[in-house]
Amino acid sequence: MKIIMLGAPGAGKGTQAKMIAETYHIPHISTGDMFRMNIKNGTELGMEAKTYMDQGLLVPDELTVRIFLDRVAKEDCKDGYVLDGFPRNIPQAEVLEDALNKLGDQIDYAIDVEVPDENIIRRMSGRRACTSCGATYHIEHVPPKKEGICDDCGDALVLRDDDRPETVEKRLRVYQEQTQPLIEFYSKKGVLRSVDGTKDMQDVFKEIEEIIK
Ligand code: ADP
Ligand code: ADP
Ligand code: ZN
Repeated sequence: MKIIMLGAPGAGKGTQAKMIAETYHIPHISTGDMFRMNIKNGTELGMEAKTYMDQGLLVPDELTVRIFLDRVAKEDCKDGYVLDGFPRNIPQAEVLEDALNKLGDQIDYAIDVEVPDENIIRRMSGRRACTSCGATYHIEHVPPKKEGICDDCGDALVLRDDDRPETVEKRLRVYQEQTQPLIEFYSKKGVLRSVDGTKDMQDVFKEIEEIIK
């Protein structure tokens, strides 16, 4: 099963992708997590990506497509995956489509997690991320057991640099201009499904299960 998560930054794509990956035993592929891991490890790719991420801009396709294609070529992706944060514009969607066509394959569902902009700012200012394992919490909605500490690995939780309100607004604009056109792109292909992302995370997941089971 090959699934794409669509939705504004902070809509809950990562949260739902993680639940899908655990339930259906497929890898969760987040280009954002891959970039953050590269930044943490101080790689050249990470340093270059960071200059764009900190401004709320998309990382250039050339870099993004390369890390994406390397990742999906791995053995564990053979039977499917859930994509979180890729594709983020039409050229990336076309790269994905070409890669799948070559394998005689296609996307099963593009799931749009719908959340109005006014909820997004609150979601992102309350988001706390683990710098080691990428787990995500929310200070009100999904608090960790111990404040500031990751339940999964015990490391410190931080507010991402790009989750500060001034950057969030920029990211929302970038989303509207570059990513939202994917909704029509996948709708035309007949694979678009929408879920109400304002519900509790468990209820959102139930809607997703109704679609993919
Ligand atoms: P969120 O989960 O809040 O939507 P991500 O972790 O997916 O954020 O992405 C964080 C940042 O990483 C983006 O703002 C962008 O700079 C970069 N990024 C992630 N995926 C892509 C992509 N497919 N194309 C270009 N940039 C990307
Ligand atoms: P995205 O990957 O789309 O950027 P995340 O999955 O990281 O979004 O979620 C953004 C923030 O909102 C996180 O702090 C997360 O814990 C929280 N969150 C996710 N889903 C829900 C939900 N259904 N209700 C309330 N908060 C949520
Ligand atoms: Zn952790």
